[in-house]
Amino acid sequence: MWNPCHARLPRHLADHDVVRAAWEGIDAAKVWDSHAHLIGTGDAGSGIYVNPQTDSLLNPSQYARRLFILNAGCVHDAAGSVDDAYVDRLRNLVDGLRRGNENGAKVLLFAFERAHREDGSADLEHTMFHVPDAYARDVAKKFAHDFEWAASIHPYRPDALDALAQAKRDGARAVKWLPSAMGIDPASPRCQRFYESLNNADLPLITHAGLERAVLGREAHDFGNPLRLRRALDAGVRVVVAHCASMGEDRDLDKGANGPYVESFLLFERLMDQKRFEGRVFGDIAAMTQVNRAGPALARVIERQDWQARLLNGSDYPLPGVMPIFSVDYLVSIGLLKAGLAEILKQIRAHNPLLFDFVLKRHLRSHDRMFSAGVFETRGFFMR
Ligand SMILES: [Zn+2]
Repeated sequence: MWNPCHARLPRHLADHDVVRAAWEGIDAAKVWDSHAHLIGTGDAGSGIYVNPQTDSLLNPSQYARRLFILNAGCVHDAAGSVDDAYVDRLRNLVDGLRRGNENGAKVLLFAFERAHREDGSADLEHTMFHVPDAYARDVAKKFAHDFEWAASIHPYRPDALDALAQAKRDGARAVKWLPSAMGIDPASPRCQRFYESLNNADLPLITHAGLERAVLGREAHDFGNPLRLRRALDAGVRVVVAHCASMGEDRDLDKGANGPYVESFLLFERLMDQKRFEGRVFGDIAAMTQVNRAGPALARVIERQDWQARLLNGSDYPLPGVMPIFSVDYLVSIGLLKAGLAEILKQIRAHNPLLFDFVLKRHLRSHDRMFSAGVFETRGFFMR
């Protein structure tokens, strides 16, 4: 159940044919993991806020959730600071991912905004956790060899445009939202000026759509409807739909406000196939290999060869380290992974969930199709 957290990758794994094959045809200097969470407990002056409810045994599901997430980052038994241990562990994993390539892979770390009320004020009661932009910025600056960062700014904040300009000056590569948890309606006219500023700054918006189980907050699930992103797309913003909206159902708003519920992924697919959004709407494949997401949507994004240039890889770290939700055997059972790869992948996962995620995705096949190399070479998307 628990992630064993072995730090170093043994040679027989690091040099294994399966790992080598995963890097074939990939320019390691362009590999950015475009979806990773920066978390902690705030014990090192990071300014991270964790809702005290999360600690409460009166709220067992949230307590278990937190234990799982911290264990995934392997900081549960760290002496000293949890915040620092989390960053150290992640650097260690990036190093293991690189295999000695000096110019290799980086990880894009996400700040995480608070929930806000309609009036634009912060709502800590409904905020599960908060990772300030300044902390993500500082970590990325301090370990520039390993990390880039994405800001997280609520568009209803009175100072939202200033915060965005500051983030741009501070080297943010994107803005990250989780609308359902933060209380953001992406379709609201209140987002318009924020979208225009994003567009002017040429910063992409990475935003969750579909059902989100990893983080609970305000639980405004409607806000995750992929069709609500059209306002951003019409404003010219490049939008990355996290997980390709591969979980849950949303109303088909094209059939009216009370349209029937359909799979969120189908609505994402509709956006992707709309000509006018080409070059604007993208999808990340973070966590699409999870048990609760893998299946038809994963097979579909592999098979859609015409989409490959619009897909970005991300690990959703620390989630690949959360053992119960990733199952290699499940992927074998649904025919996306060769059975002979299962054992080696499990061994890699025990040592390095980032490398595991990468190698696994490079070996996925659906009807002889695979993710193209460009899906993993995401640097150019953020630094154009
Ligand atoms: Zn995520």
